[in-house]
Amino acid sequence: MQETILIKLGELVLKGLNRKNFESVLLKNIRRRLSGLGEFEVKSAQSTIYVIPKNEDADLDAAEEKIGKIFGIVAYSRACVAEKELSAIQKAAAEYLREELLDASTFKVETKRSDKKFAYNSPEISNEVGGYLLEQYPHLSVNVHEPDLIVRVEVRDFGAYVHGNPRPGAGGIPVGTGGKAAILISGGIDSPVAAWSIAKRGVELTGIHFASPPYTSQRAEEKVVRLLEKVSEYSGRMEMITVPFTRIQEEILAKCPEELFTIIMRRFMMRAAERIARRNHCEALITGESLGQVASQTMQAIACTDAVANMPVFRPLIGTDKAEIVATSYKIGTYDISIEPYEDCCTVFTPKHPRTRPIPHLVEAAESALDVEGLLADCLQNLRYTKIGWYRKEE
Ligand code: ATP
Ligand code: MG
Repeated sequence: MQETILIKLGELVLKGLNRKNFESVLLKNIRRRLSGLGEFEVKSAQSTIYVIPKNEDADLDAAEEKIGKIFGIVAYSRACVAEKELSAIQKAAAEYLREELLDASTFKVETKRSDKKFAYNSPEISNEVGGYLLEQYPHLSVNVHEPDLIVRVEVRDFGAYVHGNPRPGAGGIPVGTGGKAAILISGGIDSPVAAWSIAKRGVELTGIHFASPPYTSQRAEEKVVRLLEKVSEYSGRMEMITVPFTRIQEEILAKCPEELFTIIMRRFMMRAAERIARRNHCEALITGESLGQVASQTMQAIACTDAVANMPVFRPLIGTDKAEIVATSYKIGTYDISIEPYEDCCTVFTPKHPRTRPIPHLVEAAESALDVEGLLADCLQNLRYTKIGWYRKEE
C-alpha cells in the first residue's frame, strides 16, 4: 500500500502576503531535515504539504519522527493513497486503519473532496465508507459528536487519501523566517529550553559557549554540543562558537571586588557575545535567565548587564518557574543531558556573597581596573567553531 505524509500548516496560514515566503522556507526546512533518509518528493498543494517516498528505500518512519519536530506544522498524518474509486477507498480505509478501528468503539467518517470531478460528493463518500466499515467491523458504532476515531478521506487532485486522527505538530513558525539570533548556551537546564523557545518563533540560531579551561573540562563542552544537537532536531542546523574565557575570569578575580565578580563577568559575556553575534549576522542575544532565579537575575542585575549590550537581549524564560522549564526540557529531550554533573564557567569562581543589586557606577569603577578592550580582542581571536546538526553531505 502506498503511503505518504500529509502536513497541515500552522500559524503561517494567517500571514497573508508573507504566506508564500513562509511556505517556501518550510518546504526547504522539511527537505533539509529529510536528507539522509532516502528520496522523497516534498510538494505543496491545496494548503497541504505532501511528503511522498519515491521508492522503497525512503524511511517513512524516520521521516515522520523528524516532521514532528519541525516548527510551522500544526498537525500531520500518515495516510495511504488509494485509487480514486469508491470501492478502493472503502478497502483502503478498512485495511490501512485496521488497528485503530479495532481499538475504537465509536467512529465517524469525514470527507473532503477538493476534486469536484469525483462522481460522489463528500456526504455520499462518508456514508458509503462508514457503511462498509460497519460491515467489516461489527463491534463499531457511529458517533458523530465524540467518536474515538475519525476516519478521514480526502479526495484530491493527485489521488484519494485515507488517514486516522492526525498527530500534533511542533507548532510555531518556520525557522528562518524570523531572522537569526545568538543563544548564550551553558550546560544547564535553562538555556537549551530558551534556545528551543526562540527557534519556535522562527528564529535561526547560533550557539555561543564560554569555556574556561582548565577550570572547565573538554567533557563539559562536549555536553553543550550534545545539548545543542538535541535542540537542532527542532531548530535545524547551527554553528556553536566556543569562546575562551579563562583569562578574562582570572583578571576579574584578581583585580575586582569579589562581590562584583559575577556581574562583571556577565557584562563581559554580553560584550563578547554581541561582537560575535554581529560577525555572524545575528540580530539579538538570547539567554536562559528567569527573574529572581539567582543573584545575577534580579531586575537590577539584568539592567546592569544589559547596559553594555547594544542589541536586543531576549530572555524567553523570564517569567517561567523552574518546574515549567524542567517540563519543557523533558519534552524536548534535553533534561537528561542537562543534569549530568559537569562544571560551567559561571559556577567555577562564584563569590560567596554576590551583589544582588549592583550599582552601575560602582561596577564601572571596578571595571576600570581592567583592560576591557584588550581582553575582549584577545578572546575574540581564539574562537572555535563546531557544526551542529549538519547532515554529512552538507559539509
Ligand atoms: P542555564 O545555564 O541553563 O540557565 P543555570 O541556571 O545553571 O542553567 P545560569 O547561571 O542561570 O545557568 O546562567 C544564566 C544564563 O547565562 C544561561 O541561561 C545562559 O544563557 C548564560 N550562560 C551561563 N553560562 C554560560 C556559558 N558558559 N556560556 C554561555 N552562556 C552561559
Ligand atoms: Mg539559569
